[in-house]
Amino acid sequence: MNQYQMYINGKMCDAKDGARLESINPATEEKIASFPKAGMADLEEAVSAARLAYAQGEWPMMSLPERAQVLVRVAQLIRERAYELAKVETQDTGKTTKQTTFIDIPVAANAYEYFAGAAGEIKGETIAVPAPAMSYTLREPVGVIGAVIPWNYPFLMAAWKIASGIILGNTIVLKPSQEASLSCLELAKIFKEVELPAGVVNIVTGEGRLLGHGLAASMDVDMLSFTGSTEVGRDVMKAASSNLKRLSLECGGKSPNILFADCDLETAVNGSLCAIFMNQGQMCVAGSRLLVEESIYDKCVELLVEKTRKLKIGSPEDPATDIGPLVSDRQKKTVLDYIAIGKKEAKLVVGGGVPKDLRRGFYVEPTIFADADNTMRIAREEIFGPVLSVIKVRDAEEAVSVANDTVYGLAAMIWTRDVNKAATVARRLRAGTVWVNTFGGFYNEAPFGGYKQSGFGRELGKEGLCELTQVKHVNVDLTPGGRSLVASWFNV
Ligand code: NAP
Ligand code: MG
Repeated sequence: MNQYQMYINGKMCDAKDGARLESINPATEEKIASFPKAGMADLEEAVSAARLAYAQGEWPMMSLPERAQVLVRVAQLIRERAYELAKVETQDTGKTTKQTTFIDIPVAANAYEYFAGAAGEIKGETIAVPAPAMSYTLREPVGVIGAVIPWNYPFLMAAWKIASGIILGNTIVLKPSQEASLSCLELAKIFKEVELPAGVVNIVTGEGRLLGHGLAASMDVDMLSFTGSTEVGRDVMKAASSNLKRLSLECGGKSPNILFADCDLETAVNGSLCAIFMNQGQMCVAGSRLLVEESIYDKCVELLVEKTRKLKIGSPEDPATDIGPLVSDRQKKTVLDYIAIGKKEAKLVVGGGVPKDLRRGFYVEPTIFADADNTMRIAREEIFGPVLSVIKVRDAEEAVSVANDTVYGLAAMIWTRDVNKAATVARRLRAGTVWVNTFGGFYNEAPFGGYKQSGFGRELGKEGLCELTQVKHVNVDLTPGGRSLVASWFNV
């Protein structure tokens, strides 16, 4: 069994008390590795290392191109090890090989490279003030960032937070989920290899309740960047009040996916299956509420069922697999509980249980409920699994009102051939991202984040980078003769 170490102050290390956690392969239920279960003393050491690296280390003082070189090297090493990294991610989380090979690992590599270049766009400005003065702003790093990430896209979430954070001169303490820490510890080896200065990135593994909370509450962390559930987000927000630290919260969702009668139905149904069943539905942006215009409703449900039956469920290591296991036994139970609720609320049209031929592993069938309405629990609560609720809507007006009738506001999708309707509806949806005739269009260049209880703050894009900086105003008085108003205020 592979014994991983965590990464604090430039060194690979164990927890001070030697405690360890085990990783289980969700496809086989076998223990595959162990990793450190850090305590508060370990976390404090990591935060101190990050503080020292920020306050006195070379990293924030290096030029942007020098820092960029390091990130580009990280991207290179990720690409060189892509096969191995994808395999670790698949075995640790149950994500399919198709997913880790084509998305998680390469997209993460792209992020390191992209932010290496994009950070040059983040700059201050000169301000025309009504005085003889040179007035300008500087965009400075916020300092020590605590980053807490979930288990559904560990390697990729780590890339978003680390690449955009450190390129600006911040330092970071990352706490991955205990359900999915291995790929982040593989990443630690890469940081060691590129000789990133000690303390710039620290990766501490263990329990979220202790370490995630500890980062949120720490007096020595300047900003907390959290991705996870709304429930934990609420907790983090309270803890972060300790030193009024800056917060970015990327939380849950219950995203509406609207199919208008004039859409290309075949494409829209395929896209909608991707929006709910990709990554076994364990996606914050999952299109878990399918709102379908009346006239195409029956045809749409028929197509959804027919295509869902063709999805290949099985070992995530088989490149041909569409649907792998859920991340954990606990997640499987949660999803099965929701399916039981759904069976009482709506009409089960496909799935609804555990695949008969898979006796081991945390598998759940892709499941669709038709005749759902937006008041049902399966339509209101985030299930975070392969469960779709299909809701009939009369027209665009009702679609918008049902779409917005949720506490969440992360993403929304619209399928139509009418560009006018797409743009009009997009404006009325209260969501941080609207995808038209597609799903999951994430770009390093474009901001991502939530409305309402999906959180606040943006990642990626210029907006995401700006949030990792603070603005300083510098004013240089240029009064002729040097006697400014303040200098002559008192006649002394
Ligand atoms: P979670 O239970 O909220 O956990 C998220 C992270 O917080 C994990 O690292 C977890 O550590 C840690 N944590 C747990 N309790 C904590 C506490 N009291 N204080 C601070 N940190 C704590 O979420 P999850 O089950 O891992 O992920 C699923 C959720 O994440 C879904 O709601 C999904 O929508 C959301 N998500 C959102 C986005 C987005 O960008 N908006 C992206 C992906 C996922 P442990 O796991 O070690 O306990
Ligand atoms: Mg695991």
